[in-house]
Amino acid sequence: MIIIMEPHITKDSPEFQSLMKYLERFPHLKIKVMEHKGVTRNLLEIHLIGEDYMVSSEEIESLQGVEKAIRVTAKYRLIGKHGILGDLDFEYKGIQFNQDSFHIFAGLCAVDTYENVEKTFKALRDNNVCCARMGAYKPRTSPYDFQGHRKQCLPWLFELAGKYEIKIIVMEVLAPHHIDEIREALELTGNPCGVILQTGTRNAQNFELLKAVGKQQDFPILYKRGYGLALEESLNAAEYIASEGNTKIIFCLRGVRTHLGDPHRSLTDFAHVPVIKRLTRLPVCVDPSHPIGTRMKSSDGIRDIYHVTAQGVIAGANAVLVEFHPEPEKALCDGPQAIPLTELPLYLDYVYKVRETYLELKKMVNQNK
Ligand code: PEP
Ligand code: MN
Repeated sequence: MIIIMEPHITKDSPEFQSLMKYLERFPHLKIKVMEHKGVTRNLLEIHLIGEDYMVSSEEIESLQGVEKAIRVTAKYRLIGKHGILGDLDFEYKGIQFNQDSFHIFAGLCAVDTYENVEKTFKALRDNNVCCARMGAYKPRTSPYDFQGHRKQCLPWLFELAGKYEIKIIVMEVLAPHHIDEIREALELTGNPCGVILQTGTRNAQNFELLKAVGKQQDFPILYKRGYGLALEESLNAAEYIASEGNTKIIFCLRGVRTHLGDPHRSLTDFAHVPVIKRLTRLPVCVDPSHPIGTRMKSSDGIRDIYHVTAQGVIAGANAVLVEFHPEPEKALCDGPQAIPLTELPLYLDYVYKVRETYLELKKMVNQNK
């Protein structure tokens, strides 16, 4: 059961104290209190873990300060919507994230040269985009492939972000100590930008890493679905992050591995965007670059990456994570799928048009109810 307190109730309120006293009569239940500072409201939730069938939700709801009591069936209790719960919305660096917001994280797969990062940030700024993606730690299939410039590049990367008014960089971490390295580099450079920590598809069930990103409150997290995992397994894995205290999570779809996906790298799973928005309280991101793996065009002259971006956005995605490069043929990682940077304005126009269409369709359908 999840007990939601009225918005004005805090842990210091007498109503909260008396509820805790009331719950003492169920000593076999584990009680977990979760506080979430949202944009539209703060949430104080009390989670009863264990056999709670003898707890009466009617009785709980009659107690002072309680808004509602919900029985939950899904294991991902914190991130789950359970039919009625509102978004786990959050604000970071002045930017709001929820199931209605829309953002584009565009940039390099891997930070390579100072010049390429500068060109990318400049293009983003000139096109009014203030979020980027930049990989410093790269999980590569072969140990002999470029592993990223790692912590060495962080100070100049963050300084450049500040120079070009980039507010947030999405950056993958492969191990818990990378979080400290990012924090230290941000402090060293005077926090010129923010970072969203990405956990990659290869680490989708690396529970110790998920717990480490969930334990800290400095950075939100972009969790990527495992490419070989059922959706339910990835939702439970994302719950590991929330269960450690950090609920500022974006759930990212990036395709699943199956030979049915050939000739793309993976089969796009963007049909799950509405499913995740229904099942969870998290904003949903789509990554069109990694499932496609090529910047080839179809017979209509449109790149496959554009087509699948549209599929994700028209399905209601709240963010797009996409790879660009000033000179794709020279990229040290994922060059074949990088869109040339000169095409950024065209891609943005394309995406915004699809997003507008989605909003119009949403209005049309809801007016028709
Ligand atoms: C990436 O975003 O650069 C990446 C490696 O993605 P994924 O974990 O989805 O393969
Ligand atoms: Mn990549």
